[in-house]
Amino acid sequence: MPTARDQALLSACKRHELMLPRCKDCGRFHFYSRAVCPNCWSSSLEWVKANGRGNLYSYVINHRPAPCFESQAPYVIAIVELDGGVRMMSNLIGVDPDPAKLPVDMPLEATFEDASPEISLPRFRPAQR
Ligand SMILES: [Zn+2]
Repeated sequence: MPTARDQALLSACKRHELMLPRCKDCGRFHFYSRAVCPNCWSSSLEWVKANGRGNLYSYVINHRPAPCFESQAPYVIAIVELDGGVRMMSNLIGVDPDPAKLPVDMPLEATFEDASPEISLPRFRPAQR
């Protein structure tokens, strides 16, 4: 069940936009959302629209999926370092789950999967730039 604090992120994803929490005092982004800034402990936070760009920080190719995801295996579970310096766990799409095609630092961009009428999930694909 999403918390009220995460509703901005979920609503943005439904609009196919990525939002990140940012501290109004020190100006730094963080992710996941928290009640206070993990850098300066300020509770003065805001949600800011992110450009959805980042780079592949790390990944694993999952060959043993969780129940209900068997048809998608193998798939890439990635840590994406977003512009702004925060890291988000997600899946990569639009690229084969092959280490030769997954160089660390490859440019990525957010895309969205409509998982249900209410929920859209952020995914990442190789950047088209
Ligand atoms: Zn701060």
